[in-house]
Amino acid sequence: MLIDIQNDFITGSLNNTRAPSILPKVYQLLDKHEWPLVVASQDWHPEDHVSFAVNHPGKAAFDSVNITFADTPTKTETQIVYPEHCVPETFGAEIEKGVQTRLHNLEGYRTLVNYIKKAQDHSVDSYSAFADNQYHRFTTLNKELTLHGIETLIVTGLITDACVRGTCIDGIKLGYEVVLVQDATETTSEEVKQSTIAELKGWGKFLVPVLSRDTS
Ligand SMILES: [Zn+2]
Repeated sequence: MLIDIQNDFITGSLNNTRAPSILPKVYQLLDKHEWPLVVASQDWHPEDHVSFAVNHPGKAAFDSVNITFADTPTKTETQIVYPEHCVPETFGAEIEKGVQTRLHNLEGYRTLVNYIKKAQDHSVDSYSAFADNQYHRFTTLNKELTLHGIETLIVTGLITDACVRGTCIDGIKLGYEVVLVQDATETTSEEVKQSTIAELKGWGKFLVPVLSRDTS
């Protein structure tokens, strides 16, 4: 699984200097292995999305805002807000070129490639590729994996403590064995990355951290 390996998380509005280091690892995983199914998720936000700071007057990027939902009006949820990112038909929303080229070469030839667009609903964010943060709606991902008899998820991508974390946790909840390729995921600092991996390890045998060389 390739989680949100999109330009905005590498060189764009939500870039971090550590993100590009995963690319050779991801290329290698795509070039040197035969996969029954490759899933590539993409953050995919309308311009009025709840996670954009610009849509909350007086708020700056990385502030928190309180939001409520129509079906749970007395319950307040916290949303971190970000610079605008991953708006369809922008360069930032596109999958990084080296990864996308490889996916095009694989599609319908050596393997199946499934693209999952997430967080398209303006009112709720979605870190996980399986469902939005409130579990209001699920993507087609679980159905696709079931259809293809997939039991183990090999997870890579950006960023470790948000969309990779959310996808790993939902995968574990749904009964998959989740293998996190530690050098094919990155975030803003080594401390944040390691604390996220430690948290995920707390899910016991369901989370298996490996390095990309261990997959060869
Ligand atoms: Zn987003």
